[in-house]
Amino acid sequence: METAIIIRYCEIHLKGKNRGHFEKMLKENIKKSLKDIDFTFTTMHSRYLIENYDENDYDIIAEKLHKIAGVHTFSRAVVVDSTMDNILNAAKTLCEQKEGTFKVITNRADKTFTPGSMETSMFIGGKLLECYGGKLKVDVKNPSFALYIDIREDGKSFIYTDIEHGLSGMPVGSSGKGLLLISGGIDSPVAGYLTAKRGMKLDCLHFHSFPYTGEAAKEKVIELAKKVGEYNGGINLYVVSFTHIQEAIHKNCPEEFMITLMRRFMMRIAERLAIQQGDQAIITGESLGQVASQTIESITSSNSVVTLPVLRPLIAFDKLDIIEIARKIDTYETSILPYEDCCTVFLPKYPAIKPNLERVKRAESKLDVDALIDEAFLKVEKYVL
Ligand code: ATP
Ligand code: MG
Repeated sequence: METAIIIRYCEIHLKGKNRGHFEKMLKENIKKSLKDIDFTFTTMHSRYLIENYDENDYDIIAEKLHKIAGVHTFSRAVVVDSTMDNILNAAKTLCEQKEGTFKVITNRADKTFTPGSMETSMFIGGKLLECYGGKLKVDVKNPSFALYIDIREDGKSFIYTDIEHGLSGMPVGSSGKGLLLISGGIDSPVAGYLTAKRGMKLDCLHFHSFPYTGEAAKEKVIELAKKVGEYNGGINLYVVSFTHIQEAIHKNCPEEFMITLMRRFMMRIAERLAIQQGDQAIITGESLGQVASQTIESITSSNSVVTLPVLRPLIAFDKLDIIEIARKIDTYETSILPYEDCCTVFLPKYPAIKPNLERVKRAESKLDVDALIDEAFLKVEKYVL
């Protein structure tokens, strides 16, 4: 039996002048994601159609569609030439494995097809009851599934029962470009995923503290970035060595400001890299009150060294809610692998929870900030994931 995949996007975002831009990006993102698969792609009244694919590829296609922001729902439909017999046969096949209550919903774009939509639904519903009356019952108010019949203008009809939910959101690339500060933790991959889902194309930056943090810690971050990249049409990860900066802070500044000063360096380096790469914002996984470095005073201190907008999609999330998303996007198990993060290496016993900005600046004045940042840029590793 011939099948096609109907892809729907959220109409709500399509109003006004952005519609064409949105549609084009989504189309390109779908094609790019399915580039290793043979199929034909067509547009049909605010929907896309994937046809002429190998049925064996369906699971791979579905898995990829689930990761494309902007895809609202999709359905695998049986495609037949529009005759009542063909439609009935397809309906019978689709209901073979079904049980419970159902209703038939017909949408007749081809007005030359007779009878009308209601009559078609009633006719097909009646025939299904004749065939499967032992296990199926009609319930038009609250059915356990619906059988959809889409009679198109071109003489083809689509019949389907299942509607899979996609990510929704906006096509990646439609909301600009940003640089995600990615650690090995639970939060930053989730922050990246949520931002990509809203249409921002991401690059990633990770600070590595070799030899305090080892190869395994870096591999873990590569793995996490790759997972975020699945929602981003691939991703570039930049790894910057942070060791000399941590050592300089450790040697020259009061211990209580270790984290605060590290954060300021991270932000400055992020901003410089972002500008180089054309990223318009910096994204972090910070969440209010989660740890000492995530008080409003700490955020004020790190925010004040950059002018690019800093997006913190998790700022008001509870940890359990973040973990739930981490599980959903399959980063959680990797995030909890017990490798050192650069922030834990020089962790002070009593970090300043509400750092006073003037005192922070005084502590920082002991350092040659520009030289330390220049040194960090001497060796930037890039991974295309
Ligand atoms: P995460 O779970 O994302 O590691 P966290 O709760 O451990 O977050 P922090 O360690 O305070 O919180 O880090 C706050 C944010 O700073 C992170 O979400 C991330 O965006 C950024 N960050 C922390 N460490 C690094 C690092 N080594 N490289 C790049 N960014 C980092
Ligand atoms: Mg962390």
